[in-house]
Amino acid sequence: MAENVVIIGSGPAGLTAAIYAARANLSPLLITGQEIGGQIALTNEVENYPGFPEGITGPELVDLMQKQAMKFGARIEIDFVSEVNLKTHPFQLKTQNGLEYEAKTLIAATGASPRRLNVPGEKELMGRGVSYCATCDGFFFRGKEIAVVGGGDSALQEGLFLTRFAAKVHVIHRRDQFRAQPILQDRARENQKMNFVWNSVIKEIKGNGAVQSLALENTRTGDVTQFPAQGVFVYIGHTPNTELFKGQLDMDEEGYLNVDERLHTNIPGIFAAGETHDRVFRQAVVSAGYGCMAQMEAEKFLADMEHRGYPGK
Ligand SMILES: Cc1cc2nc3c(=O)[nH]c(=O)nc-3n(C[C@H](O)[C@H](O)[C@H](O)COP(=O)(O)OP(=O)(O)OC[C@H]3O[C@@H](n4cnc5c(N)ncnc54)[C@H](O)[C@@H]3O)c2cc1C
Repeated sequence: MAENVVIIGSGPAGLTAAIYAARANLSPLLITGQEIGGQIALTNEVENYPGFPEGITGPELVDLMQKQAMKFGARIEIDFVSEVNLKTHPFQLKTQNGLEYEAKTLIAATGASPRRLNVPGEKELMGRGVSYCATCDGFFFRGKEIAVVGGGDSALQEGLFLTRFAAKVHVIHRRDQFRAQPILQDRARENQKMNFVWNSVIKEIKGNGAVQSLALENTRTGDVTQFPAQGVFVYIGHTPNTELFKGQLDMDEEGYLNVDERLHTNIPGIFAAGETHDRVFRQAVVSAGYGCMAQMEAEKFLADMEHRGYPGK
């Protein structure tokens, strides 16, 4: 039998959609993907999610969301959707564990993944000094000199977290000022362990079995210098995880799903929530809000479908 609502993705968007769908008695099925809890599960410090004045860790926050969804009857499957057929209704899904599902409505909450530098050495030294997750790997850099790449909130927030372990954190930024929130910039400037390397990009990550140095290019002069570092944490933006929907859902040139103001995609009954379409706000609370909106629209769609059938059939 076709599921009422299948939610793809277990970040704040997907989990919020699951809470709302479960409370609407729709017995939603949520398929987690490989990053259970999504990107927020990668951070140790969430200070801006409403309701937690003392802050909360990312893993704790998603754990609470998951418990809340399950309490009302959401089913959460640890699996990865590998194929979708959206040209037929109910929609068809196949997963990496070999399961097949049919869905009357679908919420695409597949979020985004950290962008890579795409420089020589990055792939080879991944897990050997190159990382995209300070919470996961910071501990291994106790007493070491490391680099953080980027100029936004994540770069400074995670850089500050890394000062708990590292002897020095060098923030490498291609411009001469940060995009990050002023409060983070102030904290970073006040922290003795933080150092800023302006107008610089990494051309190569060097090391024999582990990161040893970086080739840095000055974006103004073009000069390349060798910079000693034993770790590199990359925070330079994201790519939406929408490959799964290519050729079926409308998306822009960067892969962000095109939606209307009510989060409807080009296919009736399919809604997008969170960083699959949001390239601007990139905050857990915003994704959670989108999850709520997408689910409320899915619920309305199901009710309409009961009376009028699937549009276009
Ligand atoms: C290091 C870091 C620190 C951050 N700190 C903060 C902070 O302090 N405050 C804040 O508000 N925000 C913070 N953010 C941003 C916040 O994490 C994101 O805005 C939020 O997680 C986006 O939620 P989402 O649900 O849209 O997508 P994501 O969190 O990206 O979740 C996407 C989900 O989809 C799943 N998925 C992908 N493809 C498939 C598939 N084919 N099948 C099944 N599942 C799939 C993934 O496994 C994942 O579970 C931080 C982000 C990072 C990286």
